[in-house]
This record gives sequence, C-alpha cells and structure tokens, in this order.
Amino acid sequence: MEFAPSEAHTLIRDSAKRVAREVIAPRAAEVDRTAQYPEDYFQALRQADLLGITLPREVGGADAGTLAMGVAIEEVAKVDCSAGLMVMLGALSTHTIKFFGTPDQVERFVGPVARGEKKAAFCLTEPDAGSDVAGLQARAERDGDEWVITAQKQYISGGPVADQVIVFAKTEPGNPRSLAAFVVDTTSPGFEVTSVDRKMGVRGLPTGVLTFDRVRVPHDQMVGGEAGGMKMALATLNSLRPCVGARGVGLAMGATEYALNYARERRAFGGTLTDLQAIQFKLANMAIEIEAAKLLVYQGCWLVDEGKYGPSDGHMLSVAKAFATEMANRVASEAIQILGGQGYMEDHPLERHYRDARQLMIVEGTSEIQRTIIAKALIDRNLSYA
Ligand SMILES: Cc1cc2nc3c(=O)[nH]c(=O)nc-3n(C[C@H](O)[C@H](O)[C@H](O)COP(=O)(O)OP(=O)(O)OC[C@H]3O[C@@H](n4cnc5c(N)ncnc54)[C@H](O)[C@@H]3O)c2cc1C
Repeated sequence: MEFAPSEAHTLIRDSAKRVAREVIAPRAAEVDRTAQYPEDYFQALRQADLLGITLPREVGGADAGTLAMGVAIEEVAKVDCSAGLMVMLGALSTHTIKFFGTPDQVERFVGPVARGEKKAAFCLTEPDAGSDVAGLQARAERDGDEWVITAQKQYISGGPVADQVIVFAKTEPGNPRSLAAFVVDTTSPGFEVTSVDRKMGVRGLPTGVLTFDRVRVPHDQMVGGEAGGMKMALATLNSLRPCVGARGVGLAMGATEYALNYARERRAFGGTLTDLQAIQFKLANMAIEIEAAKLLVYQGCWLVDEGKYGPSDGHMLSVAKAFATEMANRVASEAIQILGGQGYMEDHPLERHYRDARQLMIVEGTSEIQRTIIAKALIDRNLSYA
C-alpha cells in the first residue's frame, strides 16, 4: 500500500493550486454574487491542461487518471466549489463515450471537450424522474438513418453554456431496458435552453432546463447501441462519485483554513479563539473528518482507475461520496460557528461554502440513494466484514 503522492500527482496539484490562487480565488465571491459563467476560470483551467485529466491522450486529454482529477478538484474547490465541478464536467459529459463509444465517436466527441474547445453536459434528470432513472420519459424514435429525440431534462450542470450534450432517452416508451444515449450538438434545430435555474449555491456553473423538441440526430451519434443506457449512465456516475467527494474535501479544507486563520487573530477573554479548548476541539474534529474523507475519496479514485466502477464494486464509491459530501456540510457549518456573527456575513467566504456544500449531497445520486447502494452491497455480501 502506497500513500505518498506520485510526481505526476504533485505536478497536477501544483498546477491546480496556481490556477486556484491566481484566477479563481480573486473572483469567487463576485462569480457567486453575479452567477455569470466564469469563462476566465474555464480558459485558465484549459491552459493548465486541467479540463481533460481522465480523457484519452490520443484525443488531447491528459490520461492521468481519476486520482489526479480528484487532487486537482480538491485544490480548486478549496476556493470555489463551482470550479471543482468545472474540472470534472468534461469527464461527466464524455465518460459514457469514453467507456462505450467507438474510436470514431471518441475522436469526434471526446476530443474537443478534452482539449477545451467545446463545453459539454450530461443530461439524465427529468422533471418526473431523478433518482428513479428507470422512470425517464425521454423518447428516441428511429427515422431511417436518424433518431428523433423528444425530451425535457432539468438541473443540467453546464447545460445553458454547452456546445454538446449527451442525452439519455428510451427507444421503446415505458421500457427501461431500451434506454439509449445520444450525442447532440446544441445548435441542432429543436434544441433549446428553456430556463436557467436560480440556485442556492454553486452559482459559477449554471444549471437549467433543456428541451429537445424532435431533435434529429444521425444514427452514428448513438453511443453503445440501442440498449444498455442504464448501465452506461450508472457507470458514468459511479466513475465520478469520488470526485464529487473531492469537491467536498477541498471545500472543507478551504473552510477550515479560513476559520483557523480567523481564530488565530480574533481576541476573546484575554487571548485568541485558538486558546479556547472548545474552538481547538472544533478544529481538531474538522481535521479528523477531512482526513478520513480524503482517504475514502482517494481510495474511491484508485478503485475507478482499477476499473472497479461496475454494479458489484460501486458501493465503495458510494461510501466515499456520501461521507465526503456530508462531511463537507458539517465542516462548513462548524467553520461558520468558529467565526461567530462574522461567519454569517457575506464579507467572508464561509456562507458561500456552506451553500455550495449543500449541493453535493443531492447531485450524482443523493445521500439516500448512496445508502440504498451500500445497504444492498452489505445484504448481497459484495461488502462484507466477515
Ligand atoms: C445543482 C444541481 C446540479 C445537477 N446537475 C445535474 C446534471 O448535470 N445532470 C443530470 O442529469 N442531473 C443533474 N442534477 C440532478 C440530480 O442528479 C437530481 O436532483 C438527483 O439525482 C435527485 O433527483 P430528484 O431531484 O428528482 O429528487 P427525487 O428523486 O425526487 O428525490 C427526492 C427525495 O427522495 C429521496 N429518494 C428518492 N428515491 C429514493 C429511494 N429509492 N430511496 C430512498 N430515498 C429516495 C431522495 O434521496 C430525495 O431526498 C443536478 C441537480 C442539482 C440540484
């Protein structure tokens, strides 16, 4: 067992730390306030080769693995959780193609995203089906050499600014086994960004409702055949669950560092807050939580890199996602508490971290869904302590 970071991981961390410090940190509060898409983040991450960390080298990605992406996400999420999502969005929107697409599809649809030439999004959730993926209503009908897609997708991260999306739709109404995946160019007739959400947090990455009104897609933009969409969607989500956890770890580290620095300076009862045992124990508990979550997240990233993100292995990815994201909420809350009244004010980044952390327990499978996966693994003995 090896715990020391590799040279490649250290280089990626340094690179992400530099972008976080020079570009993201100075703008994070403004981006949160205005909810304007931060193109400058995107371009800086692109120049640092941080947009295609898990994507194949042959098409312009770094092919550095999920652990490398987790490390990069952690660094940028220390200052802005939206930037953590930006780093992983290229993977979320193309892993289905990377895992199940043809070499031609990888070149045409993964390459431009890996190189930061196109922005992309992952379209699964609908108004009437979120956790219940089998209940999706989106339709894909064959018409000669084309498919005609009719769908409404909601809460799609990066959807309002995407050039390309991957969308899941059923080829037979009511049959979950007929779920298929299609790459759609957002300039296609019938595609529309119907609305952009007004969100509690993660405002640097817009989400919205996307409507597909009889959008025509060539057959060669169907990924992985007419069935198997469920398996493809879940593999894609599983492969990135530890990275959602990494957003939580980074956020919690950033919040803790800020609270610690404040506590060192804030005078109370003839000393500083760091002299008070109640505050010391809060900080210690925050560190314990962060370190535990970090190990779970790194292990999860490693499992993905070992190819263990299928249905029988996914429970440890769920453990990492659930623990790290819930930990981020606890730590962000305690960080506010350390600042007292100041923690509640927009003059400090902690109330933003607190709002951003809340998103993490909902996306890519809610905390409840992670627990259904973990419980099933225990009961089926994929996870055993015997
Ligand atoms: C900011 C944001 C960004 C997002 N980005 C994307 C994106 O890029 N692409 C995309 O496709 N989707 C995206 N989503 C959607 C997200 O994945 C869903 O919101 C999530 O999966 C939950 O689905 P739902 O909102 O329909 O809630 P529901 O499925 O209606 O769940 C409601 C509640 O019931 C619980 N619940 C549901 N089923 C069960 C069960 N079987 N057992 C126990 N509890 C259950 C849930 O945990 C939750 O607490 C995003 C959401 C948000 C908020």
